[in-house]
Amino acid sequence: MRSGIVTIVGRPNVGKSSLLNALVGHKVSIVSHKPQTTRHRIQGVVHQPDGQIVFVDTPGLHRVQKRALNRMMNEAAASAVHDVDLILFVVEVAHWTDEDEAVLQRLRNVNTQVALAINKIDRIKDRSKLLPELQRLSALHNWAFVMPLSATKRDNLEALSKEILQRLPEGPALYPEDMTVGYDDSFAVSEIVREKLIRSLHEELPYALTVEVEQYEREGNLDTISAIIWVEREGQKKIVIGENGEQLKRVGTSARRELEQLFGRKVFLRLWCKVRENWSDDPKALKRFGLSLD
Ligand code: GDP
Repeated sequence: MRSGIVTIVGRPNVGKSSLLNALVGHKVSIVSHKPQTTRHRIQGVVHQPDGQIVFVDTPGLHRVQKRALNRMMNEAAASAVHDVDLILFVVEVAHWTDEDEAVLQRLRNVNTQVALAINKIDRIKDRSKLLPELQRLSALHNWAFVMPLSATKRDNLEALSKEILQRLPEGPALYPEDMTVGYDDSFAVSEIVREKLIRSLHEELPYALTVEVEQYEREGNLDTISAIIWVEREGQKKIVIGENGEQLKRVGTSARRELEQLFGRKVFLRLWCKVRENWSDDPKALKRFGLSLD
C-alpha cells in the first residue's frame, strides 16, 4: 500500500481541473479536520486497491504574482509544496508559453519531485509529431516521469495514477474511502459559490472576488447559509448581480443544488454582493479571509 499528497500545478487553461475531475471522478471530494492537512485545501482523493493519492491545491504556484494577496499566496504555496510528496506539472501539448516557463522556474527551486503531465494529446492528430515534442519537454527538467495524456478523452489516466502511486511513500490510506465531505462546510460553501460565479461570469475577475460565509445555521435537515460576495469595485458588483439580479440568482441556485448534493441536506442560501475597495492590497482585509500567514 502506498499513499501520499500530490499537488497539480500549471498555468490557467492547460486542463488542471479537467484532469483532477477525470481522476477523482467527482468534485469536492473530502476534507478533514486532521491537523496535517490544514495548510492544504484537499481537492480530491483517488482510491486504488494498492494505494491512495490525495490531491491538494497550492494556488500560488500557478503564476507569478504582484499584489499583496498574491505575494502571500506565493509564500503559502512555497511552504505548502514542501509538505507534498509529488508535484504534477500540467502543460498543454505544443503550447509552451512564458507562463509555463515561469512555473517551471519556481519548480526548480522546490525540493520536491516534479512529474510532467502533457495534456490534450488528442489534439495532435499526427502521432509522429508527438515524439519530438515529448523529447523536447523531457529535456527541460529532471522529471520524476513524463506522461502524455488527454484529460477529456481519458487517455493514459490509469497509467498516470500508476506512475504517481509508485512514487508515493509506503503507508496506509490517509482517508477512508467512504468519506465524502468534510473540512469545514463554510469553506465548501465559499468555494462552490466562487466557482459558480467565475464560471458564469465568463469574464475573469482574478482574485477580485471572495466569498465570505457570514452565517451558517444547521437545524434538522436544513442548512441556512448567508454569504457575502466581496468585490473591489462598483462595476464588478454590477457584473456579479446582473440585470435584475438574474445573474446572482442563477449562481445561488446552482450553488445551492451542488451544496445540497454534497451535504445530503436541504440548503437555504442567501447571497449578497458588497464592495470593498482594494481588499487584495490590504493585509488586514486579507486576514479577515483567513489568508494571512501568521
Ligand atoms: P485549468 O485552467 O488548467 O484548470 O484548465 P481546465 O480544466 O479548465 O481546461 C481548460 C480548457 O481545456 C477547457 O475548455 C477544457 O475542456 C480543455 N481541456 C482540458 N483537457 C483537455 C484535453 O485533454 N483535450 C482537449 N482537447 N481539451 C482539454
